[in-house]
Amino acid sequence: MMKKVVIVGGGWAGSAAALAARNTGCEVELFERADMLLGTGLVGGIMRNNGRFTATEEMIAMGGGELFEICDAYSRHKNIEFPGHKHVSLYDVSTIEPAVRRALLAVGIKIHLMARIKDVTVADGKIVKVIAGVLHNDEEFEACGDGFVDASGTAGPQGNCMKYGNGCAMCIYRCPTFGPRLSIAAKAGVKEIIGEKADGTLGAMSGSCKLHKDSLAPEIKEELERTGVCVIAVPPYLQKSMESLGQKACQQYALKEFAENIVLLDTGHAKLMSAYYPLGLLRQIPGCANARFEDPYAGGIGNSIRYFGMLPRDNALQVKSLKNVFCAGEKAGLLVGHTEAIVTGTLAGHNAARLALGLEPIEISRELACGDAIAYVNEKMQTKEGLTKKYTFSGSVYFDSMKKKNLYSINIEEIKKKVTLTNMIGIFAKRLA
Ligand SMILES: Cc1cc2nc3c(=O)[nH]c(=O)nc-3n(C[C@H](O)[C@H](O)[C@H](O)COP(=O)(O)OP(=O)(O)OC[C@H]3O[C@@H](n4cnc5c(N)ncnc54)[C@H](O)[C@@H]3O)c2cc1C
Repeated sequence: MMKKVVIVGGGWAGSAAALAARNTGCEVELFERADMLLGTGLVGGIMRNNGRFTATEEMIAMGGGELFEICDAYSRHKNIEFPGHKHVSLYDVSTIEPAVRRALLAVGIKIHLMARIKDVTVADGKIVKVIAGVLHNDEEFEACGDGFVDASGTAGPQGNCMKYGNGCAMCIYRCPTFGPRLSIAAKAGVKEIIGEKADGTLGAMSGSCKLHKDSLAPEIKEELERTGVCVIAVPPYLQKSMESLGQKACQQYALKEFAENIVLLDTGHAKLMSAYYPLGLLRQIPGCANARFEDPYAGGIGNSIRYFGMLPRDNALQVKSLKNVFCAGEKAGLLVGHTEAIVTGTLAGHNAARLALGLEPIEISRELACGDAIAYVNEKMQTKEGLTKKYTFSGSVYFDSMKKKNLYSINIEEIKKKVTLTNMIGIFAKRLA
């Protein structure tokens, strides 16, 4: 009988896990509590900036590049720059989700939307079954599996945003409609890990919001659509302090340029690179007199709180103390970003399938940025200070470390050669069943 991998959470991590598990030849069922895939990726868009370029090309060479190729195909802008960030692509947040959904369905992945996993059955240290509740319905249904991936993210729910943020800002997670996120590993008894801010308070606030492009002055909209970027100087009396930038989940954007200016990016909406911006202040900035938030709806007040609920895991992304569960994306640690979620999702999905097929899980070599980042974050998360930072290929502490170790490159041939030398060429595209 065909082995089955069950994925919980359809963000970038879960979508990548589903594709990777399916590539091995296993049957795959994906559960998503909301009405669309991609989770926080529905409001993101920034790809290939700084070291993310290297990670993307490594994954393409390893045979796990399909989602990156979709992002490239759906990019509104390619190879642009904004402060501190080079060779950036911006995918279109309004068309990316259907494209990903079509790709998953085309290879025979069974997707359950508005199906929130609310319980699990555990036997002999393994999850054997997940139980889904169907939205607005008393109906429940079950799915058994041989391998499982927990890709349920770390955002919200409302209680955390109330306690550790500025209240529910009505973000894309839409907790009141679809119910709070829930981890299958936690349900199976694993203690989740909580990230901290530099001041020791818990969680981190999401670092960007979206403005309706038509609410901005026509010359800003025109510049955004032509170049992808618009940087507007903020009068000194309206500038945010550097400390306020330290609260952000995305520390790669906690640079002084982001306090002295507002940085807008064209992802379909105008992505404003600030966690939130009081509307009264925003509307005093030249060209923003009519500004209006699209995400979160209360972006003048706050944003979602993330980095609650990470899982202890090894470098193959197997959750500690569970025999057949892997984790990916934000669940796998303090790794921020779509690229990071796709990298970990691909490895977790591949390994869940390997385990289901009776094969040993693999790690990605530390000679590659993808493998090094997974191991580096694991090490850092064992320390109190490490828990206060966020890690990404695109900036801040991990990009610095990546450069020091000579892992950053934008030479595609050189990256392919490195992947070949580590024996990982095409590994995620190989059929195993
Ligand atoms: C406002 C904002 C802007 C961002 N912009 C960028 C950007 O431009 N570039 C970038 O690289 N990164 C960006 N990020 C970060 C990036 O989006 C995330 O780090 C990454 O996409 C996380 O992916 P994930 O799959 O781990 O988690 P999530 O995206 O949180 O996905 C988890 C999914 O699991 C589902 N789920 C949870 N519990 C259950 C359950 N019990 N049953 C079924 N489903 C469940 C959720 O509904 C969700 O869809 C941004 C984040 C935010 C919040």
